Amino acid sequence: MIAGMEAGKTQDLIKQAAADLAASSHAIVLTGAGMSTESGVADFRGPKGIWTTNKQAEAQAYQRYERFLNDPKAYWEEMLGTVGSGSDFYRQMRKVGPNPSHHAIARLEQVGIVKSVITQNVDGLHEKAGTQNVMHYHGTVEKLRCLSCGSRFGVDEYSLEKLPPLCRCGRPLKYDVVHFQEPIPSDIMDAAESEAMKCDLMLICGTSAVVYPFAALPAMARSRGRGGSGVKIIEVNAEPTPLTHQGVSDYLMQGKTGEILPPVADEVNEILSQREGHG
Ligand SMILES: [Zn+2]
Repeated sequence: MIAGMEAGKTQDLIKQAAADLAASSHAIVLTGAGMSTESGVADFRGPKGIWTTNKQAEAQAYQRYERFLNDPKAYWEEMLGTVGSGSDFYRQMRKVGPNPSHHAIARLEQVGIVKSVITQNVDGLHEKAGTQNVMHYHGTVEKLRCLSCGSRFGVDEYSLEKLPPLCRCGRPLKYDVVHFQEPIPSDIMDAAESEAMKCDLMLICGTSAVVYPFAALPAMARSRGRGGSGVKIIEVNAEPTPLTHQGVSDYLMQGKTGEILPPVADEVNEILSQREGHG
């Protein structure tokens, strides 16, 4: 399935990653846009990205957080595409399904290897694949959030006929998605940092992790050292990234997450069943 000269090397690294995962006691996974695009979620900055092709939409996105603070009703009308050049983009996104990479990560959690997933993706595909412990670093289209009391609610709990939707505390709700200029919710940031400080293996999938503060997570894990009591950092990306070049990751499995993660999960299962057989 994985073509080219690197195929043999990739097969070796898949075995290596499976062995490292099976040997870990607290493995965590970081995921980014590369995983979503394999599911057909539109990207923003690629050649055919939403913002590359629609500059007005990009300008609007930059003002979104302020729009909510100033006029929650106008924010919602824009988000739902009832006025202006807005679109019901988030509602379209909710129709997309998980791909083999999401299922592979869910399987690794199910067998007790992966303890948590920290994702930059807002599409909610990890949950759709069955993963239980997901931290949405940039929020999710599946939820609404109150900036006042921090409560979150499922989108489907609200009809969105009367705008803006209101929290139980009486304040307007916004999409849980973190917009430009908006701070990362502190509960998620704290939980993610605590995982980065606790893990002994970090699997980074479909992200170059260069956008801060998310980018601090691999750096934090790396600062705890390599080997022994240190942290193993493994990358799955289509191309080498700054994590590869700067030696943050121990090694890169180069290719599509949807082609690399399923055989890794298979291999981990194999190791675990052998272990059981001999135990
Ligand atoms: Zn509230």
